[in-house]
Amino acid sequence: MSTNFDTIRESLDAYERAVQQHRFEVGVREMGSIASIHRGVVQVHGLADVTNNELLRFSDDKYGWVFNLDRDSVGCVLLDHHNDLKVGQQVRRTYRTLDIPVGDELLGRVIDPVGRPLDRRGRIDTTERLPVERSAPAVLDRAPVNQPLQTGIKVIDALVPIGRGQRQLIIGDRQTGKSSVAVETVLNQQDTDVICIYCAIGQRNSAVTNVIHQLNRSGAINDCVVVVGQSQATAGLQFIAPYAAMSIGEFFMQQGRNVLVIFDDLTAHAKAFREMSLLLRRSPGREAYPGDVFYIHARLLERSTCLCPELGGGSLTALPIVETESQNVSAYIPTNLISITDGQIYMSHARFQKGILPAVDVGRSVSRVGGKAQLKAYRRITGPLRLAYAQFEELNKFARFTSQLDETTKQKLTRGHRVQEVLRQDLQDARNVADQIITFVCLTQGLFDNVPLPQIKNLENEFCDTVKQQVPSLYTKIQSGHDLSSDEIATIVKNCSEHLEFQES
Ligand code: ATP
Ligand code: MG
Repeated sequence: MSTNFDTIRESLDAYERAVQQHRFEVGVREMGSIASIHRGVVQVHGLADVTNNELLRFSDDKYGWVFNLDRDSVGCVLLDHHNDLKVGQQVRRTYRTLDIPVGDELLGRVIDPVGRPLDRRGRIDTTERLPVERSAPAVLDRAPVNQPLQTGIKVIDALVPIGRGQRQLIIGDRQTGKSSVAVETVLNQQDTDVICIYCAIGQRNSAVTNVIHQLNRSGAINDCVVVVGQSQATAGLQFIAPYAAMSIGEFFMQQGRNVLVIFDDLTAHAKAFREMSLLLRRSPGREAYPGDVFYIHARLLERSTCLCPELGGGSLTALPIVETESQNVSAYIPTNLISITDGQIYMSHARFQKGILPAVDVGRSVSRVGGKAQLKAYRRITGPLRLAYAQFEELNKFARFTSQLDETTKQKLTRGHRVQEVLRQDLQDARNVADQIITFVCLTQGLFDNVPLPQIKNLENEFCDTVKQQVPSLYTKIQSGHDLSSDEIATIVKNCSEHLEFQES
């Protein structure tokens, strides 16, 4: 009996599809009319068969996309501000879901979330397009994360490592250096095989221009795509920006390439979603966000992965950024994102104010899968550093209240201050793997312990140069990601100690 029903249902579906196709081919368009317009959200009557995410056409270059399917009307979100739309005006179906151009032609370009160029460098002619909303790769299509993504930032590469295919949240208050960490990571991918996509959502124009300038100046823009959902754009356009960036990234990933996508930031994205939802009269929940706000970020970040070798072995690493208010990480959107991602880099307001930059709070930051992808040399050298540094920070708080400290505590504090100094890093001062490993070997072996803090930065550079000149083969070996034997560690320590003695004499 059920087989009969199934057959009839399938036949009816096939018939309906054929009718739709025929209507499309002969140019019959279903038409509706605008019932109401409010701040970029339009209610349309008379389009009974329209599908979710379908593009609707209001006139020549005026489009919106379907976001809400109600019993009597369709909620549509405009892609641009159109003040001349009027109630009663005709709306046509396009039978197309919202999509974005993808391809190598996008590299080096700045585009808006529907692929229109914003950089005055002419048209972008791509041959392929992908839907903005796509389902995430299946579990069996995924491979474990086992390749590191070097950020060039010592504190992250050593203590909160990121793997290719990981989703690592950058979280912190306003003006704590969140975007800087992301941009430095992009700059450090120059001369590697990683393609970067920087997606700005609702950011100040000056901040976005600043990022584009940095990318242009360094030449990193050539392997980058910048997707900008401007703060003055409609909420609908801002909302689709991260999905569009993800689709562009997925195109490269499916070709077996490695991609890094930055979402700056998802707080603004959630706010755009809240605005659209409230205008569409969806019921508000906690902090006035609709109940499915978790799902908009979960379905976005689930698309970030490392594909299995049979599918080309490409990877897509996501670095979403979220802003907190008064260091409150338990607010709605931050907690959602913490639970969706594989770890977080916590940018501390207090550290930023003290000038300890980058202001990464090591104690509160965590990377759940990156450790397995970290280069073996890092694991060997920096393994105990994380705990020791966290202990130092606690000790340092109490040490201020007393002058009588025992010898061991004093030693811990001396070492801790050196670790803190070594982990400080200016902007545009990315460190390669070899330099980082040499520095950490010297640090853990106590070569910095008797050096005054202001001299540490110079000495760090000198140690790296010494090893590079005295044992170039070892330097190249570390740079290519090999593990270090105890003899090799001893060689580094010997050369650097000799340099130190020579300086002191
Ligand atoms: P917003 O909340 O406005 O987006 P943000 O958290 O993204 O801010 P950034 O814009 O990255 O913060 O950085 C704020 C300021 O701190 C910038 O002027 C930047 O130049 C400076 N800054 C960030 N990191 C460093 C660093 N490691 N060394 C020196 N200056 C830094
Ligand atoms: Mg920022």
